Amino acid sequence: MAVFKGTLREFNDYVGPLARNIVANMARKLKAHTTCREKGCNKRKPLEAAHIKGKDRPTIIATILSDYKIDHDLYEVDLEEFKSKFIAQHQPIEDVILPMCKEHHLAYDKKHKIESELPVVIDELVNEEGQNTYTEADLENISSLEFKSLEKAIKKFSISDIKDKISKELNLAKQQISVSNISDSNGLWNFDINKSKFAQDFAFVFYDQKAQTYKISIFEGNSLELSNFGEKNDGQVVRFFVDANYQDKSGFKFSIQ
Ligand SMILES: [Zn+2]
Ligand SMILES: [Zn+2]
Repeated sequence: MAVFKGTLREFNDYVGPLARNIVANMARKLKAHTTCREKGCNKRKPLEAAHIKGKDRPTIIATILSDYKIDHDLYEVDLEEFKSKFIAQHQPIEDVILPMCKEHHLAYDKKHKIESELPVVIDELVNEEGQNTYTEADLENISSLEFKSLEKAIKKFSISDIKDKISKELNLAKQQISVSNISDSNGLWNFDINKSKFAQDFAFVFYDQKAQTYKISIFEGNSLELSNFGEKNDGQVVRFFVDANYQDKSGFKFSIQ
């Protein structure tokens, strides 16, 4: 789904780091990369991913990009497609990449007249003894956790945007507005609201995060019969579980604005 559209320079600036990252990830999986591949060189850190002659990164990228040229210096690239073609061009990785120290990488490139490319360091997560400081599973796990935090942060922002908007529209203080997503666990809108808030005007906001739409139900101060609803924290907090028909577990039906 992701599509890049822009000039060669822009492609290089934005997609170049992704390409280098792919090479680093693939090269990390090379089993025996503990020392530089140059005969007699025992240097083990840092090691760069030297592209073997004829398989340098700019050539690989240019070959793939030629299919996506839509105008003079304008490219439109399906990034998923680019990624899988780029990976395919690096398989098997031992035929494309030589782990080398900086000195021997430069010497290799010079000898074979390989054009300059930004170095890709393949052992930045390796300690002095040459052991990985993270396993592949660790890295995958961390990366999925990072994505989850991003999703969570985005959700927070959309809820705070909605609150801002409704607060202005209804001229209601933000602490008198409660926004709920549809819960992943029970499929209902869940609200836990401090009882004291219902002494003043209060707005429930039923947010459908998939459709990105919401409905509002407003109550004047002291107009809601709280004893009908569930409670927690010794009755300090009133709990609401609201279904798609805006009906609470207790049977109470919210009237929507
Ligand atoms: Zn090189
Ligand atoms: Zn070396």
